[in-house]
Amino acid sequence: MFAQSIGPTTAVLKDKLPMDAVETVTSLQAKIQEMSRLVRQNEAKQKKFDALERKLIGAASLGELLSTLAHDYRNDFSIDWVTVAVVDPAHEVTKLLDLASEDRHGIESHLVTLDSGAALSKTLGNELLPYLGPAQPTTAELFGDRQQNDGSVAILPLVHGGQVLGSINLASVDVDRFAAGSGTSFLERLSAIAALCLQNALSSERLKAAGLTDTLTGVKNRRYFEARSKEEVALALRNKAPLACLFFDIDKFKSINDTYGHLVGDEVLRYVAKVIQVQLRASEVLARYGGEEFVVLLPGVSELNAIATAERIRKIVAAQSVPLDAKRTIRLTVSCGVSVLAQEGDSSTSTEWNLKLLSAMIERADQGVYRAKDSGRNCVVFVN
Ligand code: GH3
Ligand code: MG
Ligand code: MG
Repeated sequence: MFAQSIGPTTAVLKDKLPMDAVETVTSLQAKIQEMSRLVRQNEAKQKKFDALERKLIGAASLGELLSTLAHDYRNDFSIDWVTVAVVDPAHEVTKLLDLASEDRHGIESHLVTLDSGAALSKTLGNELLPYLGPAQPTTAELFGDRQQNDGSVAILPLVHGGQVLGSINLASVDVDRFAAGSGTSFLERLSAIAALCLQNALSSERLKAAGLTDTLTGVKNRRYFEARSKEEVALALRNKAPLACLFFDIDKFKSINDTYGHLVGDEVLRYVAKVIQVQLRASEVLARYGGEEFVVLLPGVSELNAIATAERIRKIVAAQSVPLDAKRTIRLTVSCGVSVLAQEGDSSTSTEWNLKLLSAMIERADQGVYRAKDSGRNCVVFVN
């Protein structure tokens, strides 16, 4: 705007000035126009960064935050590829995202988990300063499985409270897009905000997860089961897919407590939870229902396969012994009730109807446990 407004004035001036002065004015004018173009460009860039920062701050969950970084950043700034690397030695981030499975926003191919911050220090040094420049062997692992033909990359560390959380990684086929020595102030500000948001999102997902996890055994708790089972019932009815439920109850558990004490009892609960968990697929749900009772949901599994899974678990528990100390082991058994969801109704059925079918399925599995106990324990009973 400034360059345009001086246009006519300089035209008048030029007529009255000597040649060398005219040249100076022309060159100044060009410089001002260039500066003005840069200012406009920076203003536009700033606006885009502001909008992205607002989206990051407004992200409602870890999944949405990662998706904003991976998808919105990529689209809004026309970047060839964006990944977010997260230092996740205990695979916690993966688990937190699994827990909110509906909230993944298709970020799998953009999320890279690192066992330690070493991959980042290799590129960014101990100072963890942003890296802009040609793609290098050390930057490749920050882009996951992607085929590499990148001309230049930007690696922006996510550091919060002196701790390295991960990095935002930008790649371009254009060698000049992320050139060494270019200004990084926008990027540094963005990564500081992203780091803060990531830290907050992780803390709040951890809190959410803690409220849905049984602290003794580490499997899901009844609250989680109640919410998840409603979703699974709705899904099964909509897709006309089977859904099975297993109820496990440890036999004579009170006598284990009475004989060895509650701490050993607790150890046995953890052991049983683990035995069941390893027999299940990722899509199957295990929760501690109450004291020494565990419930399992098997989406897509019908009667015969559900009974087979229950039998397999029952046999493993009965065959193995729990090591107590160097000399002693404990033998134990479980009783199991099995039921399947009655396929009555379709996607048009009401929530109340779904709830009715769900509680009827749980009720039948529970009945199965009672009958198994009556039949002498250590067995599986299907109730239709
Ligand atoms: P049955 O074969 O009929 O199921 O007999 P049982 O002894 O397993 O059943 P009962 O319901 O009589 O006893 C369950 C026991 O589980 C009683 C309770 O003290 C114990 N229990 C419940 N929660 C925990 C826990 O968190 N830790 C420990 N150690 N024991 C628990
Ligand atoms: Mg019981
Ligand atoms: Mg019991």
